Amino acid sequence: MAVDVVVVGSVNLDQVIEVAALPVPGETVQGGPIIRLGGGKGANQAVAAARLGCSVALVGAVGTDADSAQLRAELVAESVDVSRLAAVEGPPGHAVVLVDRQAENVVVVSPGANARLDSDTVQAAGDLIAAASVVVAQLEVPLPAVLAAARLASATFVLNPAPAPAELPDELWPLVDVLVPNRTELARLCGVPDSGLRAPGEVARLAAGLPCERVVVTLGADGALVRDGARTELIAAPTVRAVDTTGAGDTFCGALAVALAEGRNLADAARFAVRAAALSVEQTGARTAMPTRARLAAAGE
Ligand code: ADP
Repeated sequence: MAVDVVVVGSVNLDQVIEVAALPVPGETVQGGPIIRLGGGKGANQAVAAARLGCSVALVGAVGTDADSAQLRAELVAESVDVSRLAAVEGPPGHAVVLVDRQAENVVVVSPGANARLDSDTVQAAGDLIAAASVVVAQLEVPLPAVLAAARLASATFVLNPAPAPAELPDELWPLVDVLVPNRTELARLCGVPDSGLRAPGEVARLAAGLPCERVVVTLGADGALVRDGARTELIAAPTVRAVDTTGAGDTFCGALAVALAEGRNLADAARFAVRAAALSVEQTGARTAMPTRARLAAAGE
């Protein structure tokens, strides 16, 4: 059965430990209890889209252990179609996250099953991918899988180039309909230092130089900048009390996919995504505060 949005991406088990201060190399520190949370950019974006009322399938890979079964069950509980989520021998992806009292964090990802998502698994989901209104991918799974998804997508292919790549392969660029980087990812793609990217004018100039006509740069508390061909628009974020911005970009991408699948133009879709992502930073945890359609409607969207 066709779905509106297909996400091709990673599934991780996040293990978060709060510490008073992040350890320096060679140091051992005491932390709080381990908090285990479903994560991974692919899974998070799929959950964000599903909460906003779209039919969503996730193409990816988990392992064969109890953690993998738990991750799969959480996605099912969020109404994400996991029929094309492969099970490969071994553990799923894990992310070990240390967070200090200033909300600074360090993260180590052990990709586990995500590293074994191959183009054959993506090809096997070709029927769903080709029929979807929007296909979304990130870079936490191997590039051949991303390329296969981009080639199979027949409507809109959205790439969130995260984690920040040094460059994208030449053959991927013409397949990307909408690129959604944050400031760091834009800077990396353009080969400039991240610290120089404060002014929206500078962001707009760099976005205009990318070989992709439609770009949405997320700007944290400053909202998002939309480049749609020759038009550029800055969309301000509503003022919220930000508690934890982990997963804000994932909420943004999931919401953008939903709005594009509903037929909104890029600027309107980005406006919808800015509102959804702003609500997601009001509570701790990447998925905890991802809004439902009803909550977004109550906030005026
Ligand atoms: P990432 O999580 O990838 O670093 P950003 O920090 O750019 O991405 O945030 C993505 C989106 O989340 C922003 O475009 C904005 O809509 C929303 N957002 C993030 N931080 C805030 C904030 N402090 N206040 C309001 N909205 C925010």
